Amino acid sequence: MDAIDLVDSITVVDLVTLEAQAQNCTACPLCTTRKKVVFGEGNPTPTVFILGEGPGADEDASGRPFVGKAGQLLDKILAAAGMPRESVYIGNMVKCRPPGNRDPELSEMAACSQWLTPQLERLRPHIILTLGNIPSKNWLGLKLGITRTRGTWHRKTMPWGEVLCMPIFHPSYLLRNDTRAVGGPKSQTWRDIQEVKAVVDGKAPEGLEAQILEPKTSTLKAKLEPDSKTEVSPIVPNEIQRLF
Ligand code: SF4
Repeated sequence: MDAIDLVDSITVVDLVTLEAQAQNCTACPLCTTRKKVVFGEGNPTPTVFILGEGPGADEDASGRPFVGKAGQLLDKILAAAGMPRESVYIGNMVKCRPPGNRDPELSEMAACSQWLTPQLERLRPHIILTLGNIPSKNWLGLKLGITRTRGTWHRKTMPWGEVLCMPIFHPSYLLRNDTRAVGGPKSQTWRDIQEVKAVVDGKAPEGLEAQILEPKTSTLKAKLEPDSKTEVSPIVPNEIQRLF
């Protein structure tokens, strides 16, 4: 085992231990109504971490994040962009389901940061996508709503370095607003996710200055070139229909 393999194996073991500890958490009232703790899952050395707000009924029953209708749509979007689900890591602000799918309380998100923060520190993603208003406002700290902030890049300083963050629509919102019209939520999400994929591939979008990112996976280039442009395909309704 070389040094890189050793570091990776330590990271994986630490994450597994953390997840095992979270299974017994009683730090907020959501522990009294949950069926299963939904810690998160995915690539243990991800370039992209996708941050949702909390588990729903399907996730509560299975213990896995984003496995219901919204999760299936997220899978399609990721696959269409060339970033299959298994290449990213998916987790939530709170690890237990808020009853009736209500928004998580501030106190619940604060309590659950005891798991989210070390989870992120072990995974060390370079890019974090916040799904919808709850994580965009409460984790990323944005003031404006998701319809104003989606598709915009933000930098956040984390213990392992600067991370690029982008709010995107929550797939549940796309299911509720199921239009494939150009300029609609699905076409905007298709634009956003293509731009994320371009950054993963080392191309800086217009307006995003050069960013040195420590290479961790073979898919992430060490440097985002300042003068390279993100190549985002034109939005074609039929194409969106075919893809997701
Ligand atoms: S939501 Fe988080 S803090 Fe609350 S009980 Fe579940 S794991 Fe613990």
